[in-house]
Amino acid sequence: MDSAAGSCNACGATGTALMKLSLGKDFFGRTYDRLSPSTDQSPQWYCEGCSIQKNLQRDFRDITAEIDKLAAGQASQLTKSDEFQRAALRVREIVALLDAVQNPSPLLASGEVNRLLERLNTITIPV
Ligand SMILES: [Zn+2]
Repeated sequence: MDSAAGSCNACGATGTALMKLSLGKDFFGRTYDRLSPSTDQSPQWYCEGCSIQKNLQRDFRDITAEIDKLAAGQASQLTKSDEFQRAALRVREIVALLDAVQNPSPLLASGEVNRLLERLNTITIPV
């Protein structure tokens, strides 16, 4: 139990169970991009609540990046209708999960996720 003396890398909680998160794959199943912001470099230690939100944050970023590509007319995972549907479901799930937590997440603002959902809702994918 080498995590006992540590603190959560996101909210700073101490004296609670921490888990090591290694984000090996992104939302679209690709090997995780090591060029992502330094805060995403694995492994880091998170308490239970933050470890869940860290996964939400990763998916949120992956989906945001793909929407940005789509909006810029570049190749995007979201041009595949099944991936688009999966991403849209996931964003709704993230909104619901963020709404359910008592304290605002130190990792992910629900306003940002709501804006992402609005952007998704304006996109029409040819089936
Ligand atoms: Zn935490």
